[in-house]
Amino acid sequence: MEIINGKELAKKVRGNLKLEADKLKENGVNPKLAVILVGNDPASKVYVRNKNKACDEVGIEFEEFLMDENITNKELIELIDELNERDDINGILLQSPIPKHLNIDKAFERINWAKDVDGFNPINVGKLVLGKDTFISCTPFGIMKMLEEYKIKTEGANAVIIGRSNIVGKPMMQCLLNSNATVTVCHSKTKNLEEITKTADILVAAIGKPKFVTENMVKDGAVVIDVGINRNEEGKLVGDVDYENVKEKVSYITPVPGGVGPMTIAMLMNNVIKATKEQNNIK
Ligand code: NDP
Repeated sequence: MEIINGKELAKKVRGNLKLEADKLKENGVNPKLAVILVGNDPASKVYVRNKNKACDEVGIEFEEFLMDENITNKELIELIDELNERDDINGILLQSPIPKHLNIDKAFERINWAKDVDGFNPINVGKLVLGKDTFISCTPFGIMKMLEEYKIKTEGANAVIIGRSNIVGKPMMQCLLNSNATVTVCHSKTKNLEEITKTADILVAAIGKPKFVTENMVKDGAVVIDVGINRNEEGKLVGDVDYENVKEKVSYITPVPGGVGPMTIAMLMNNVIKATKEQNNIK
């Protein structure tokens, strides 16, 4: 069994991106990310802080827009329009979740697709479906990068994803399909879940329930990717996989923390550099 070290790999990715950012700056181009944070969700604040830290490390400018939780849809759209217009901003990220009274779909649609470094704008989602070059949403993109680095073959593999959210499950399905895996997507209405997950050569858990994936759900020698970020009763971060028991059966597994999480942020950095280059016609 090998543990996929997302933390180390993310460091390597950031290191390579720093070289690219340095080169851009030598040519007078300063990559910049704008992050919109609405309200006071403590977990979101931590994510935004980590994104800020990664930007500092890579050499990407970071500007945070803290909005009151009572902001209206109109005010949010106006802010997005302003950031779309600003030439100094290359990437725009709206940290989710946002308060329930706001329309997140409309907000994602409004972000200029060329600055949509999270890959949530329908144009970028559509391009992913068509297998075209696009901004791939950062969590699935990070997972694909991990599989590639660890030389885990996707072609012809049976991949099973638990979870069908727009930000993880669906783009993960598309990425694996685009890389020639045979993909099954499970969700809360799936029957005989265990029978399906047991067929997986690659199993991706994106449910949001601690220790949901138990050893009886996993085939011997499978690759298990744990996207979940949950807090247990002691306030400790845990994934969706019962790591201690499952790890005995698998060929590869991602830990939580230190697996998918850091890679998600590293791929966000990748997307900001990509956006900056494209906006400046740099190859
Ligand atoms: P959502 O709540 O949007 O989606 C959860 C999915 O799990 C849904 O599709 C749901 O099915 C499915 N599900 C729930 N219960 C069951 C069940 N009993 N059996 C089968 N499927 C079930 O979550 P997200 O996709 O946004 O996030 C998933 C987890 O990943 C969370 O812990 C989140 O914190 C974490 N996360 C981690 C990231 C990282 O960088 N590491 C990035 C993003 C998220 P249905 O559609 O039928 O309701």
